[in-house]
Amino acid sequence: MKFFLKNIFFVFCCFTFFSCGKETVSRTEFLIGTFCTIKIPKSKSADFILDECFEKIKTLEYIFSANDFNSELSKLNEVAFKKPTEVSNELLDLIILAKKIAEKTDGAFEPAIGNLVKLWGIGFENENLPSEVKIKKAIEDLSYKNILIDGNKISFTNENIKIDLGAIAKGHITDLIVKLLKEKKVESASINLGGNIYVLGKKFFTDDNWRIGLRKPYEDLNSYELVLSVNNTSVVTSGIYERYFEKDGTKYHHILDSKTGYPVRNNLVSVSVVCESSAYADALATAFLVMGYEKSIHFIKNFSEKKIDAVFIFSDNSYKTTNKSLLVK
Ligand code: ADP
Ligand code: MG
Repeated sequence: MKFFLKNIFFVFCCFTFFSCGKETVSRTEFLIGTFCTIKIPKSKSADFILDECFEKIKTLEYIFSANDFNSELSKLNEVAFKKPTEVSNELLDLIILAKKIAEKTDGAFEPAIGNLVKLWGIGFENENLPSEVKIKKAIEDLSYKNILIDGNKISFTNENIKIDLGAIAKGHITDLIVKLLKEKKVESASINLGGNIYVLGKKFFTDDNWRIGLRKPYEDLNSYELVLSVNNTSVVTSGIYERYFEKDGTKYHHILDSKTGYPVRNNLVSVSVVCESSAYADALATAFLVMGYEKSIHFIKNFSEKKIDAVFIFSDNSYKTTNKSLLVK
């Protein structure tokens, strides 16, 4: 319940658009632990298209969730240490992608982090500051390298490995929804899965880019620090102010460093990543928070696979971006 309530306040990005008299259809449902909104132009088939999109999100949630004991991922986590286990194509694809990004970020994005995430329980009823002994144990042999893939079978080399796709699944689901909308010939759409945003085409019924506001950390939902002007791309923000608890005056948030076992501590409060792949944007926003500003910039400069831009917001409320032309003056 607490998780649910907290998430209501996590939808921190917002769209501003003007429909010029033409109509759109919007639907919001609470899925994958957050509010999911998809908006498309009104047409005879619009409602059916939205039905399909939300069915898809539900199906994928049941595969990727680390919090639902009955999900395919939870079942895999229970048995994969004991025996190589066959998985669905959907789960296989995402585990392959997660491992690839983990390798490229040298484990800053670490999908094998499930045990450590559960130990801290941040955002859930059992959130707590674990003992040093337990943290040490939870990071022993903790590496994506210990997730083995053989054809469509997955196995773990040790008992400590549990997969958590929480930092990439929303992005990946967004990409699959975009694919579906394109197949249905929808030319312009906005998708917001709990702040995981994709804007398709140009802003509804115009030739303009979409505008996406990035919320000021720790302030109310309507205060915007920066506004981005983009199209046909995803914008994903990871922030240390999203989910945390306080103990003895210290804030413990939900982005963990798998090497230390503790919530990341550097001068960053949030990172927003702009990339046409929402899965990459999602995973890299988390990874950049862990890596810190300098390492992230080095990564972006040397990453040739996808065009990546980022906005870094620091604890003194200053910001830096890799591409000033994305910002609305
Ligand atoms: P959110 O999903 O809250 O928008 P993120 O995309 O950054 O934020 O994902 C955070 C979630 O990912 C955590 O709740 C946890 O399940 C998992 N996680 C935490 N630290 C890491 C990490 N270093 N690498 C990969 N996953 C992580
Ligand atoms: Mg992420």
